[in-house]
Amino acid sequence: MKIVRTVAELRQWARAQRSQGNTVGLVPTMGALHRGHASLIGAAAAQCGAVAVSIFVNPTQFGPNEDFARYPRTFDADCVLAENSGAAVVFAPIVDELYPAGAVTFVDVEGISARLDGASRPGHFRGVATVVTKLLIAAEPDRAYFGQKDAAQVSVLRRMVTDLRLGTELEVCPIVREEDGLALSSRNVFLSTEERVQALALSRAVRAVEAQVAGGERESGKLIAAALQVFAVEPAIQVDYVELVDWATLKPIETATPGTLFAVAAWVGTTRLIDNTILG
Ligand code: AMP
Repeated sequence: MKIVRTVAELRQWARAQRSQGNTVGLVPTMGALHRGHASLIGAAAAQCGAVAVSIFVNPTQFGPNEDFARYPRTFDADCVLAENSGAAVVFAPIVDELYPAGAVTFVDVEGISARLDGASRPGHFRGVATVVTKLLIAAEPDRAYFGQKDAAQVSVLRRMVTDLRLGTELEVCPIVREEDGLALSSRNVFLSTEERVQALALSRAVRAVEAQVAGGERESGKLIAAALQVFAVEPAIQVDYVELVDWATLKPIETATPGTLFAVAAWVGTTRLIDNTILG
């Protein structure tokens, strides 16, 4: 597996793949790779002739008081995981490569970027949209792979790819979980033993809502109340949002239908975690 550091090298690699008749898959990540990332890379390897994994802790998607500095960085292990999962190249630029000195160009996906995580993390989706645009322009992949874990991110990026007619197909892979239900996240390493147990409230809330829907409940208020009940018995957790929204627009809805997104974000100590489900 090859490691490249510059946009020019990534572009050259992708062009060479295409000229050899390979379809190109791209898996954007911030590193600290785990089985969730591996599932994306594996899906890309199964569907594309050649797969690039980007590893870049993108400063513009972190707020001033967020965890950019302490975000886990495990580059050597990431390369092993990427290669074992089927990546042909890892693109790992330094910040200056994606944000040249003086950079003032950003991608704003208006409206939708201010909902869910965008509401509590102002500027977050602007940073995400900007960096993913740079990656898609550089690699021009046939398909790019994202996790349903970040469901609101998927909505923002779908809108962006449509609006900019970027021509890349977005593929969404299911949430990979620990055996006890906790969604895998690079941030789970921040959890203390106690917080690790408390964090299960997120997946329990998701399952509670799924159970309500399976039982015939469709009313948004009732479904959200069922989720909040789960958090009520875990006072150490501070709920950020619990919402039932249209997955395309992230606008709140009154009545759940197939494809509705139920999403939750919560603080467990100093760690912010998210989880969700797409209702059947
Ligand atoms: P990150 O490195 O956290 O920016 O994540 C990179 C990609 O991996 C994003 O598209 C995430 O949605 C996806 N991802 C992260 N955790 C999981 C998970 N537990 N299951 C599936 N995909 C995930």
